[in-house]
This record gives sequence, C-alpha cells and structure tokens, in this order.
Amino acid sequence: MENLKNKIALITGGSRGIGRSIALALGKEGSHVAVNYQHSEDKAEEVCEMIKENGGKAIAVQADVSEEREVKKMINRVRNELGEIEILINNAGIAKKQKVEDVSLQDFDKAIKVNLRSGFLVTQEVLPAMRRKKWGRILMISSVAAQTGGVVGVDYATSKAGQLGMMRYYAKNLAEENITANAIAPALIDTDMVEGLGGVKPEIIPVKRFGKPEEVASLSISILKNGYITGQTFNINGGMQPS
Ligand code: NAP
Repeated sequence: MENLKNKIALITGGSRGIGRSIALALGKEGSHVAVNYQHSEDKAEEVCEMIKENGGKAIAVQADVSEEREVKKMINRVRNELGEIEILINNAGIAKKQKVEDVSLQDFDKAIKVNLRSGFLVTQEVLPAMRRKKWGRILMISSVAAQTGGVVGVDYATSKAGQLGMMRYYAKNLAEENITANAIAPALIDTDMVEGLGGVKPEIIPVKRFGKPEEVASLSISILKNGYITGQTFNINGGMQPS
C-alpha cells in the first residue's frame, strides 16, 4: 500500500459532511490538505485547525467549483501555498429533492454544473502536474443515484451517473502514467444533504441506519493508497443494491 504522507490533496466541498471526513482522514495520514468550501468559511477553517492540531498542514480555499475562473484561482493558491496537487477528491455537490414534474431546466443545468462539470474543471486543471510527476489519485464522490435513480431527482441522478463516465475515461487514459481514477457511490450518509432531503428515513436501508461520513472516509483512504485499483466504483450503501 502506498504512503499518503506529505502528498498534497484537494477536497472540493471539504467544509462539511463526507468531504470534511475525508479531509480529516487525509490529515491523519500526513497528507497536506486543501479544504475547499463555497460558503462555510468557519467550518472549513475548523477542519484545517483540527488537521494542524495533529501536526499536519492544511489551508481553507474558497471557490465555487462550478466556475472556471474560481477553479483556476483556487488551484493557483493551493500550488503556491502547498504545492502541486497529487490527490484530488471531487466531492462538492448539491441535491434538491423534487417530483419528476417539478424539475426545471434551470434545476437540471445547475445540478450538472455543480455536481458534474466541476469535476471536469478541477481535474483538467490538476492533471498536467500529476502527469509530469507520473503519480496521481482522482476520486469522484458519485452516488447510488447513478445506479438506481435514487431518491433526489432526475437532475441529480444524471449528474451522478456522468461522474462515473468521466472517472472511467480518466482511468483508462491515465493508467500507464500511474494516475488512478475511481468513484465511490454512497447511499444515505448522515450529513446536512440527507437532512435537507426531508423525510428520508433510515428504514429504507437494509442495515436500518444512515451511513457515517467516517465510513466513507475510511474507504476513500484504502482506495487512495492502492495503485492497482483504477476505473472502479465502490458501493457503500448499507445494502441498497444497485440495479
Ligand atoms: P453536504 O453535507 O451538503 O456538503 C456539501 C459540501 O459541498 C459542502 O462542503 C459545500 O460547501 C460544498 N459545495 C456545494 N456546492 C459547492 C460549490 N459550488 N463549490 C464548492 N463547494 C460546494 O453534502 P454531503 O452529503 O457531504 O455530500 C458530499 C458529496 O457526496 C456530494 O457530491 C453528494 O452528492 C455525494 N453523496 C452524498 C450522499 C449522502 O447520503 N450524504 C449520498 C450519495 C452521494 P459549503 O459548506 O461552503 O456550502
């Protein structure tokens, strides 16, 4: 297994939920961590403080990852303050639960822009340095919605399925350069996002509880440490089997 110590990592949407847990787990591994956020500056700073208290390096970086200009600015800041990014977690995302007939074109475009296009923008920006180093790890936080349709909406399910195609393309085309790309497909992890869905009960999950962000983080670390795993989707869903 590869050592993640002193590797430079960027987690998009690292201020809360799953991203926060992955950022903290990478900090424990000794990685230098850039914690991206859009609005939650205090929460992102708190994650960085926790990493620094354990002797690690961390910075909070504000950017709307769906905007090209902001992404470029974010990557430049990380490059200048920590170094070239070697581990990228495309985690930032939004979910708006709606009935089929209520999803507007605006909702659809927004889900694609924030959940999917952002992954393209950030990955393309960090790839040149990974390719020069001949080492890189890309991890997409997709969803069971990519496989089953899920409980949010057609906009969300489509954006999450797109992440899997994107991941497979990068995996196939970068494998020889020691850059892996994988995805995690969680279902119903106990975060603000699930709380915001309103009325989703753990009873619909075979294990009868929501997953913990830490459980997604520990899976992420195993994937990131393993250079022989690429092009794969890992389901972490309490037994909600994908169709
Ligand atoms: P969350 O608790 O709502 O946290 C979302 C994070 O994304 C926050 O850090 C937020 O930043 C950030 N974010 C949102 N839009 C952004 C943007 N445009 N630019 C930069 N950052 C942005 O969500 P979560 O449950 O941890 O979900 C994380 C990922 O897992 C998402 O991609 C989600 O689709 C996926 N997922 C979650 C579940 C689940 O059950 N929770 C299941 C399947 C997949 P601020 O704090 O600054 O707003």
